[in-house]
Amino acid sequence: MTRLVLRPTVLLAIALLCLHLAGPSPLFAQPAAPAAQPVPAASLPRVHFVATGGTISNRDGGRLTAEDLAKSMPGVDRYARLTVEQFANVASSELTLKQWLGLAKRINDLYATEKDLAGVVVTSGTDTLEETAFFLHLTVKDPRPVVVVGSMRNPSTLGYEGAANLLEGVRVAADPAARNKGALVVLNDEINSARNVTKTDALRLQTFRSREYGQLGVVDRDRVVFFSQITQRTNERVEFDLSKVTELPRVDVIMVYQGAPGDLIKAAVDSGAKGIVMAVAGAGATSGTQQEGLAYAAEKGVFIVNSTRAGSGRIAPPRGDVPAAAMANATEAQRRRRQFSVAGEDHTPVKARVLLMLALTRTNDRNEIQRIFSEY
Ligand code: GLU
Repeated sequence: MTRLVLRPTVLLAIALLCLHLAGPSPLFAQPAAPAAQPVPAASLPRVHFVATGGTISNRDGGRLTAEDLAKSMPGVDRYARLTVEQFANVASSELTLKQWLGLAKRINDLYATEKDLAGVVVTSGTDTLEETAFFLHLTVKDPRPVVVVGSMRNPSTLGYEGAANLLEGVRVAADPAARNKGALVVLNDEINSARNVTKTDALRLQTFRSREYGQLGVVDRDRVVFFSQITQRTNERVEFDLSKVTELPRVDVIMVYQGAPGDLIKAAVDSGAKGIVMAVAGAGATSGTQQEGLAYAAEKGVFIVNSTRAGSGRIAPPRGDVPAAAMANATEAQRRRRQFSVAGEDHTPVKARVLLMLALTRTNDRNEIQRIFSEY
């Protein structure tokens, strides 16, 4: 009797052939994804949604309410338990500074009293969204996030992206990785820091950009991803306490342009401005008769913050040694100018205005204001 002796290599070849004939080889298959398990609702993070209005709710024939917006997000209950609140329902530029104070106080109160809350989402119109978001960035003192969301197309427009942006905002607010990053702005799948973001296009969906700093992260199909962190003071490290503030000091922004008249600066001072942000040309130039206006402001004790109108770039504080030497021969008027002048660092003029309003709720000391500009 002939015995069939099969060598191990032949056996292996036969086995592989059988597996191949049997269909896709389990030897090379990816591990199967675990079947999606429904998350028990009670264990989902809770997100509170505060609606203030804006294009995201500006439907023809009647604005969407907070409830309507909450219902517009299919599948939101996979990510969070949502509670909703209608704070306002107006265009962003119609929100008053009193409402800003109220909104920041409301969110601070929510965080102080509702320990089970994971995050807050605020809807806003996009036109001045960056100012509202930066105000909340500087005034909500809690590690948990405030996520500001809007949309560029209204609910009556084909391609309305509001519900998608809002759902992404809820996902970010529910994510523990969003803590201690200050206020965040989420639109168009991107997460930007409220400190750096600015609206760069009047109409396009990809309008919110963080200039040369770039986005902090993205909201993708599978998860929220952060790539970077901002280094300035945020969250519990912010020092502005609104509990006793009932009104923000008036601060105006005045643009530098060729041949600009200084009497606009005088008018702002005479109208009660406690501070003025000069949107300077380049790294600090003024024009026309603006120097006369600035001398008048200094005489009246009004702080001037220089912030570039260039869109990006930093205005550095003067070096300590140079002014000291220069000051020896300075006139009284020059000394006074120096005493009331602050470098706006890399803040855009509208953001510098928000920071100066808050700084003036704390101090009238020029060096303190400069420190604040250097730390936020
Ligand atoms: N684009 C406007 C804004 O920034 C919204 C218009 C509206 O809501 O009426 O608020």
